Amino acid sequence: MPAFSVRCAEVVPCPCCGGSLSVIGSRRRKLLEASGQQRSLVVRRLRCVTCRKIHHELPDCIVPYKRYESACVENVVASESEEIVVAADHSTLYRLRSWFRSQTTHWMGCLESIAIRFTLDVAEELSGHSQAAHHRFGRYVGEAAGWLARVVRSVVNSNFWVHTRSAFLSEAH
Ligand SMILES: [Zn+2]
Repeated sequence: MPAFSVRCAEVVPCPCCGGSLSVIGSRRRKLLEASGQQRSLVVRRLRCVTCRKIHHELPDCIVPYKRYESACVENVVASESEEIVVAADHSTLYRLRSWFRSQTTHWMGCLESIAIRFTLDVAEELSGHSQAAHHRFGRYVGEAAGWLARVVRSVVNSNFWVHTRSAFLSEAH
């Protein structure tokens, strides 16, 4: 199966301690596209020079522990059922949507605390605006396509990610 390497342009510090990360290797990661087609990519393994923890590079197409690429997950969690373009069975769709709902409050809290820590300007909450979860994230990361990847990146890079293990990617650490 062809695989391609993913290089993140952004240099991020260790989410645990802020130390710098050095590349120690790579690993193959499988990802499902909307069609159900599987592709394979290579992400770099990084080790913190300070606390020695191992991390993996997080390209925007990956949601940790999820088999579907980020754009698919975004489509599933934010669409009416007739707008879902991801080829997946009902139970998979259901689990993705419940997982998203279960993380919403946590992620909002993370984004809030990141915004306070870095004194970021956050858009005012519009009254009468839809309170659907994905719209609420828009205050912090914008509502344009890719919002889920932006939420995930912020939460992961701040070491706030909740590591719900799944049978598929339990080796992720
Ligand atoms: Zn560290």
